[in-house]
Amino acid sequence: MRKRIGALLLAAAAWAQPALAQEDYVPKEVAALDQEGLDKALTFMGGNVIYILFHEAGHMLISELNLPVLGREEDAVDTLSSVLLLEAKDETLDQALRDSVESWYTLGNQYEVSEEDFMDTHGLSKQRAYNIACMMIGQDQKRFKDMADSLEIPQERRDECEVEYQKARESWFSVLGPYMADDKDKIKFKLAYYKTNNKDLNYYRQQLKDFGALEMLRDTFSGLVKLKDGIKLTANVCGEANAYWDGDARELTYCYEDAQSYVQMYAENNGATDENSSSTDEAGTGDGDAAQ
Ligand SMILES: [Zn+2]
Repeated sequence: MRKRIGALLLAAAAWAQPALAQEDYVPKEVAALDQEGLDKALTFMGGNVIYILFHEAGHMLISELNLPVLGREEDAVDTLSSVLLLEAKDETLDQALRDSVESWYTLGNQYEVSEEDFMDTHGLSKQRAYNIACMMIGQDQKRFKDMADSLEIPQERRDECEVEYQKARESWFSVLGPYMADDKDKIKFKLAYYKTNNKDLNYYRQQLKDFGALEMLRDTFSGLVKLKDGIKLTANVCGEANAYWDGDARELTYCYEDAQSYVQMYAENNGATDENSSSTDEAGTGDGDAAQ
């Protein structure tokens, strides 16, 4: 199964190259970047989109297959997303994980933790960053040594992560084992990138379309796991930077605002935002709002 996941995700990896679309209109956070900065920002966005889509796909699998969840589901699907991407053993997908660690870490540094954050269904942003990092280091301490060093993770913790990764991988694979599919089990997803009149978000709609974000998810999971036809994979305006799985509607939604938030984060981290920018006030960047 590991080999099969790896092969399928390799197809996904090809997607994660930024498309250099010639847009008539660009949002201010994009206008503030030079071409090299934009390439890097879109690659950073792409990596995070991959991670979040796999996280939501984890919710989809739990819901559609009625899988048991021992512990907090949000942590479980973060683990699944990490395991699937790591088992592909692909540089682009490794980078997606690195990008995700960076964005959760950055988010965790931007806001003071409130009581609501402790109550939340999700772990704190920095905990999520460290948990993903732990899976990475746990799979291969050498490959991710630079990241472990930059996060100053002690050797003792790195060794614990190895044990935790093995357990996480075995657990997920044994739970998913009975549901593994092959090409004859391919299913039909319904894909939609909903239109928007918001020019900024339309830019990100176009980016996600050019990248084939939803197609990547479809191509990875159709024929990988025994699912039923008709699951909707959609990208839409949500009013916040987020992504959702709705079990009743059988619909996974990725929000254009979420894609935008990563480009804004990149621009801010690299000093490319102008003083008139109000991008730090965009929705969904607080710890309490950092759902998904
Ligand atoms: Zn979630």
